Amino acid sequence: MSNKENPRVGFVSLGCPKALVDSERILTQLKLEGYDLVNRYDDADVVVVNTCGFIDAAKQESLDAIGEAINENGKVIVTGCMGADAEAIREVHPQVLSVSGPEQYEQVVEAVHEWVPPKTEHDPFVDLVPPQGVKLTPRHYAYLKISEGCNHSCSFCIIPSMRGKLVSRPVGEVLKEAEGLARAGVKELLVVSQDTGAYGLDTRYKLDMWDGRPVKTRLREMAEAMGKLGIWVRLHYLYPYPHIDDLIPLMAEGLILPYLDIPFQHASPRVLKLMKRPASSDNILQRIADWRAQCPSITIRSTFIVGFPGETEEDFQELLDFLEEAQLDRVGCFQYSPVEGAPANDLGLEEVPDEIKQQRWERLMELQQQISEARQLDKIGQTIEVIIDEVGDDGACGRSKADSPDIDGNVYLEGATQLQPGDIVKAVVIDADAYDLWGELTESDD
Ligand code: SF4
Repeated sequence: MSNKENPRVGFVSLGCPKALVDSERILTQLKLEGYDLVNRYDDADVVVVNTCGFIDAAKQESLDAIGEAINENGKVIVTGCMGADAEAIREVHPQVLSVSGPEQYEQVVEAVHEWVPPKTEHDPFVDLVPPQGVKLTPRHYAYLKISEGCNHSCSFCIIPSMRGKLVSRPVGEVLKEAEGLARAGVKELLVVSQDTGAYGLDTRYKLDMWDGRPVKTRLREMAEAMGKLGIWVRLHYLYPYPHIDDLIPLMAEGLILPYLDIPFQHASPRVLKLMKRPASSDNILQRIADWRAQCPSITIRSTFIVGFPGETEEDFQELLDFLEEAQLDRVGCFQYSPVEGAPANDLGLEEVPDEIKQQRWERLMELQQQISEARQLDKIGQTIEVIIDEVGDDGACGRSKADSPDIDGNVYLEGATQLQPGDIVKAVVIDADAYDLWGELTESDD
């Protein structure tokens, strides 16, 4: 609850789920120190803008958000991905009070202290803060970041140069945070990082302690321990390493959600090589078949880039053939756009014209829509578990185990107004389209 005498912070969070986790950490700390979070620029003593710098459009959005905060409030602290390039920000907005990069929580908190000092008499025992901190996501799910940075050098990506090499958090710390979130009512954890599959590689899978026993800082061990907390655990951004196969038994056993978010980016070996990505598509197709044989309920989500420099019609056809064969459940597709600083810009390859990119994107999406729809229609008549996100006058809206928030589909339960966000219920699927499902509660949940 807001107290007029407490110092007040406004917060604008832009960008991806990973940036959201950074925001949550900063907010948790400030709240612990007695700051109030306010929604209006007018009410804030200072405004923090957590920026995104992944693509040029996101950079512009960040600069606009900073400009708006300066106009409306005047005292603005900038952090996040775009903060890595302080000069670019100061050039446009010289009045910002402080600029820090991603994960630099201490600098942000220090800057807030400098411009709006905390109330000295703040008593953390009186000013109650929920143990999981202040969440920007709904209370029943939370993003948990396990590492920062990436050791790969995909030629279209600037993340390694912006966020540096892989740095994994110790597994004991990660599991403690997961346990705290579960205790605070979180029902679904979304594990994120730039390269979740590489977790622990930088520490040589160092042993750490959790719950009185040693656990290796490694993805399988972490996922297994997290799965024992009794909540949904969803892993995001798995690079197609061979050891990803070790996660499938955990999915088959029901310890973690049977959901594999594995960006393949392309299927033509020639384009993958130019992208500096691994894998031959034959090998991937065989692995997909093996994953499905071991865990028939698995949902495979992937993303692809069309129009990468030098991509020919033949390469693109190879990608369509792959999709036809792979029958992936969910697919995201981006048209390649040259990000400033990405190594692909220096490959000297012929650009694919915009109209061809657009056509290829449409062809891919049309094919995938048919595939996704057929896979969704197969679910009619099945009984599925649904986590409820929202309840309105007409019914409830939630997600199945196959749906991650914001990026996948929803499950609509008409008339189920008695439910609460965070409930996990069983429903029979009665209708479907390429993205969403419609269901009816089974009798036990009525
Ligand atoms: S693995 Fe992901 S984060 Fe790392 S360089 Fe490739 S695209 Fe970028």
